[in-house]
Amino acid sequence: MTQAYIENQKGKSLKATLRLKLHLDPATEEALRETLEQSTSCFNAVCRHGWDNDQRNGTRLHQATYQPLRETHSDLPSQLVISARMKATEALKSVQERKRQGRFVSCPQSSLCPVRYDARSYWIRLSDGYASLATTQGRVCVSFRLCAYYTRYADWRPCSADLCFRNGKYYLHLVVEREAPNPVAEGVLGVDFGIVEIATDNDGNRYSGEAVKSVRRRVRRIRRLLQQRGTKSARRHLKRIRAKQSRFVKNTNHVVSKSLVGTALTSRKALALEDLSNIRDRADTVSREMRWLLGNWAFLQLRQFVSYKAEALGVPIVLVDPRNTSRTCSECGHCAKENRKSQSKFHCQQCGLMLNADLNAAKNIKARGECSDALLFWSEALPTNQEQAPNL
Ligand SMILES: [Zn+2]
Repeated sequence: MTQAYIENQKGKSLKATLRLKLHLDPATEEALRETLEQSTSCFNAVCRHGWDNDQRNGTRLHQATYQPLRETHSDLPSQLVISARMKATEALKSVQERKRQGRFVSCPQSSLCPVRYDARSYWIRLSDGYASLATTQGRVCVSFRLCAYYTRYADWRPCSADLCFRNGKYYLHLVVEREAPNPVAEGVLGVDFGIVEIATDNDGNRYSGEAVKSVRRRVRRIRRLLQQRGTKSARRHLKRIRAKQSRFVKNTNHVVSKSLVGTALTSRKALALEDLSNIRDRADTVSREMRWLLGNWAFLQLRQFVSYKAEALGVPIVLVDPRNTSRTCSECGHCAKENRKSQSKFHCQQCGLMLNADLNAAKNIKARGECSDALLFWSEALPTNQEQAPNL
C-alpha cells in the first residue's frame, strides 16, 4: 500500500503510480461493479473481433466495433467504450508479439478488466482525498485516504487512472507526474557493483552483500531439500520461500541504492556506473564476474533503483566504458590479467600497488567518469536554485 513505483521516463518528467483504496457506499460500489463488468464485456468483444479478423490496428478496430458496442452497452459512457477498445488493442498487440516469438497464444479474455480513466472521464483532488468517476449510472464521487507516504505526491500532476477490483476491494491506480529536477554535479563518485560487496565506491565505502549472500545460501539449502521431497505441501512451502527471498533482496536493493544516491547527493557528485548496454556483444572483454552479474535479476534491479532515485533527486549518472575496469591499475594505468590476483585482491605488476579489487575498479570508473563529455555539460549548467527534492 505504501509503495510507489517510479519509472525513468523519456524527457524530463518523473512518474509514479499510487495505489489508492477506495471507500464506497453500497450504491457506488454497485455502480463501479457494473461499470467494470460492462467495460470488460467491451474489452472481450473487441479482442474477439480482432482475433477472428486478424486485426490489430486501433483505428480499424474502432470503426468496426464502436457503434455496435454503443448499442449493446448503452449505459457505459462513450469514453469508457473507447478506453476498453484501447486496452484491447494493446492486449492484441502483445499477443501478436508473443505469436511472432513462436509461442502458443489464445484470444485475450478477461474476467474483470481494469477500467482506464483519463481527463475526460474522471477528475481527482489528491490532497482532499476524493475523485469523480464516470460510470454506467452517471458520475459518482469516491473517497480515499492519502497515507503519510503518499503526501509527498500531493502536488504532482495526476495523469491517467485505472479502476481495479482485487480481493473484494476497489482500488484506483493513479499515475502522477512532475518535472525532474535539473541534474547537478561538481565531481564524480565511481561505483563498482560486485558479488562480494554489492557495491563499492571510490572513497572505499562498501555496501555489503554479506546479509544477502547468507540468506541466499540458506534458501538454496532449504530449496534443495524441499525439491527432493516434491510433495504438494513442499511445493507450497517453496513458493513462500521464493517470495520471501525476493522481498528481502528488493528491500536490500532499496537500502543500498538509497545510500549510494544519498552519498552522491550530499557531496554534489555524479554517479559513474559501468555502461552495460552493449556488453553482451563483447563477452570476450568482460570478466566472468560481470557476465554472472548480467544474468542476475537482483543486480539489474539494483541498477534500476539507483537510476530512478538518482533521477528523482537530480543526481546525474555517467555511464562509462566497462572494459578492463578490474584489470587496470588505478594508479599507473597498467592493464594486465595478472594484476587481478583473486576475487578480492588487486596487485599491480608494474608499480606494485596493492588494493582491494572492487575499490580499484571503482577508482577506474571514477576516472573514466571524469573524462566524460556529459559531465562537462552538467558542471557548466549548474542551476542556481535547486528544486527541493522529494525524500525517497
Ligand atoms: Zn600500477
